[in-house]
Amino acid sequence: YTNLSSSVYHWEKGRHKYIPPTKTDKEGKKRKVRKMKKDNCIFCKIAAGQIPSATIYEDADFRVILDIEPASKGHALILPKEHYANLYEMPDELAAKVLVVAKQIITKMTDILGCDGYNVLQNNGEEAGQTVFHFHMHLIPRYKEDDVTITWKHGSVSEELKAEILTKMNDK
Ligand code: AMP
Ligand code: ZN
Repeated sequence: YTNLSSSVYHWEKGRHKYIPPTKTDKEGKKRKVRKMKKDNCIFCKIAAGQIPSATIYEDADFRVILDIEPASKGHALILPKEHYANLYEMPDELAAKVLVVAKQIITKMTDILGCDGYNVLQNNGEEAGQTVFHFHMHLIPRYKEDDVTITWKHGSVSEELKAEILTKMNDK
């Protein structure tokens, strides 16, 4: 994954120029792709640089911005430049790259912010708390005694239900 350090450098020096999304063709050559956009999608516009954002990283596939209503200091969002409503829609190759970017950003941000931990999370669907329907991954720095609440009640599962899920999931 070669783009990261050069792009971060790019931003740090304040010489940013929009980096168009690319795809690798059959011969292994990188080609610019026409960006898939959705009308009136705010994250499409932010990712494309049409709406200004606090960008902390950019490469051909992603823009990483600071969340406008951060849960904690440094809360950031990874936005793909192409429009996918959620993780289900995203091609495998792009989905895999998201976690590499997440790892790189949280490693650098941990250094810079001196945070004590990180939540990396991503909501799919209204019922899961998704409010902007353009895929994004949250990178939420955690600090001792912060007031971020990402929690759930620990439940229980019957042997029957567990067996049913296992059977269905492993059924060819
Ligand atoms: P979710 O609930 O997972 O869909 O998260 C949406 C996130 O996007 C929230 O944390 C919002 O604060 C954030 N958000 C919404 N609009 C903007 C914007 N214009 N710039 C930056 N972050 C935004
Ligand atoms: Zn979009």
